[in-house]
Amino acid sequence: AADAALFKAKQSGRNNFKVFAELMRAQADEILLIEHELRDALANEHLSLYYQPQISMQTGAVTGVEALLRWQHPEIGFISPSRFIPVAEESGLILELGSWVLRTAARQQALWCSTGVPVASMAVNLSAGQVYKDGFAEMVAGVLEQNQLPPAMLDLELTERIAMEHSSKTLTTLTELQELGVTLSIDDFGTGYSSLSYLKRYPINKLKIDKSFVDGVGDDPEDQAIVLAIIGIARALGFRTVAEGVETAAQWQFLHDHGCDEYQGYYFSRALPVQELEALLRAQPPADSVVSNR
Ligand code: C2E
Ligand code: MG
Ligand code: MG
Ligand code: MG
Repeated sequence: AADAALFKAKQSGRNNFKVFAELMRAQADEILLIEHELRDALANEHLSLYYQPQISMQTGAVTGVEALLRWQHPEIGFISPSRFIPVAEESGLILELGSWVLRTAARQQALWCSTGVPVASMAVNLSAGQVYKDGFAEMVAGVLEQNQLPPAMLDLELTERIAMEHSSKTLTTLTELQELGVTLSIDDFGTGYSSLSYLKRYPINKLKIDKSFVDGVGDDPEDQAIVLAIIGIARALGFRTVAEGVETAAQWQFLHDHGCDEYQGYYFSRALPVQELEALLRAQPPADSVVSNR
């Protein structure tokens, strides 16, 4: 809608302010539309979770999955989470949405446990509003208990921005989560704040190396240097590392050779709906019979 407004405004050759105002209105309209439709999607089950495998660099076995939201709108079609998550965050709808994601992922994980599907860990993305909300750790504890899930099976992904803002509140919540026994990961590591002091303060278990560094790691010495530095920091502080967005054999090789622990990416698999993920896992050799490679 914003693009169409810009095009129209350009064509009619009006002054800059009018172009700008119209563009802003189109964007505001789009946000309202997404918010309205998202409420509807939550109520009518047009949302689902897809699961992207996380693979051990050492054994090639699937060690866990990351739950990723998918929205299939009946008229518009597929809408990307990078478009609707920010709107949900802005409108406060993220609390309801986030708790739907957590419950759905936990239920799925419990089902896999009881049917012997070998997924050791379920990663769930968190937004700032969820972490800052009073009682968040209790809510997580309740979801784990309802599903009789061992807390170590849940891996909560936070961004650097969440870790940095409202730091005393965040520290309290993360400490409660750590005491519960859930895993805490920093998503998109290296793209947020440059301050590293929070790595010392917070009870973190994993760093997820952002795709923007992984992209060049097959051939770009600068990306290689950054990734080596991240792996070095993680080692020194006792965190595991997960590379995001691995797409090529060259990227995989570099990460493997330099001691990255796990990876995710199209090189192994995209995020998949439940049945497809289960089929992929059935086709995998059991973890201890895998010698090397992916
Ligand atoms: P993220 O948590 O960093 O997730 C990784 C994104 O990279 C996913 O995009 C995934 O599909 C994509 N990806 C994985 N491997 C590759 C690859 O090899 N190549 C490429 N090009 N992409 C790859 P997706 O599913 O579109 O999600 C985008 C972002 O939306 C996520 O980034 C996360 O920040 C947010 N998000 C998704 N689901 C949720 C959710 O349930 N709650 C919250 N708060 N945020 C979510
Ligand atoms: Mg993530
Ligand atoms: Mg990420
Ligand atoms: Mg992201």
